[in-house]
Amino acid sequence: MVDDQAYIVDFGPGVIRRISAMSPSWGGQFPQLELKNINHAFLTHIHSDHSGGLADLILTPWVMGRDSELNLFGPKGLKDMAQNITDAYKLDIDYRLNGTQPANDKGFISIVSEINEGSIYKDSNVEVIAFRNSHGDLFESFGYLFITNDKKIIFSGDTAISTSLKKYAKDVDILVHEVYSSEGFETKTDDWKIYHKAHHTSSIDLGILANELNPKKLIASHILFWGATETSVIEDIKENFKGEIILASDLLVID
Ligand SMILES: [Zn+2]
Ligand SMILES: [Zn+2]
Repeated sequence: MVDDQAYIVDFGPGVIRRISAMSPSWGGQFPQLELKNINHAFLTHIHSDHSGGLADLILTPWVMGRDSELNLFGPKGLKDMAQNITDAYKLDIDYRLNGTQPANDKGFISIVSEINEGSIYKDSNVEVIAFRNSHGDLFESFGYLFITNDKKIIFSGDTAISTSLKKYAKDVDILVHEVYSSEGFETKTDDWKIYHKAHHTSSIDLGILANELNPKKLIASHILFWGATETSVIEDIKENFKGEIILASDLLVID
């Protein structure tokens, strides 16, 4: 969030429930997160654990009063996905538009920008820069750098150690980076080990990376524990990084 605007990064299953839990209508403290105000979202890549909440993101804020289009940014494929979901809900949308339910004719419409590397969005609050990360064979996979008036925040997306992330992550205030447990990794079968090594970042490697980049805060997110404890993951990172480490969890607020 920046001032009165929320910017959503990825929309996995449950995203709308978690957003609404933080909005005043449901006992939360952030008016920016009232569903009717949710109109900007950025997708790192098309994998379902990051995009499975798109139907809810397109429809529910509209039903709750969003009176502007939803601006979506993401890799190739997002446009079709948004259109196909909207088509799938045609009967519901028509019913709400044409029946007795008060409904506006804009809030269910998605304006999709399929992105390349570079500056992809700018308003008075924030500039968003996209960069390709290193998510195995998935070429259409990005991380995002958000530059606000007083902070630089980078989201790694799903990625193994990425040289382009390193370029953009110098002097950032907050590095949000995915991670899997190096301890838990040992329990995986060889085929999964090969997969995860190419697609994701181990807790030991994340510590080495953070030590090199030295963010003011490191937020470890998208955590694959595989039975390891939170302490184990933190200790792995700490082996190489002495700065502040926070393990991400639902509804966590960081400034
Ligand atoms: Zn992924
Ligand atoms: Zn993922």
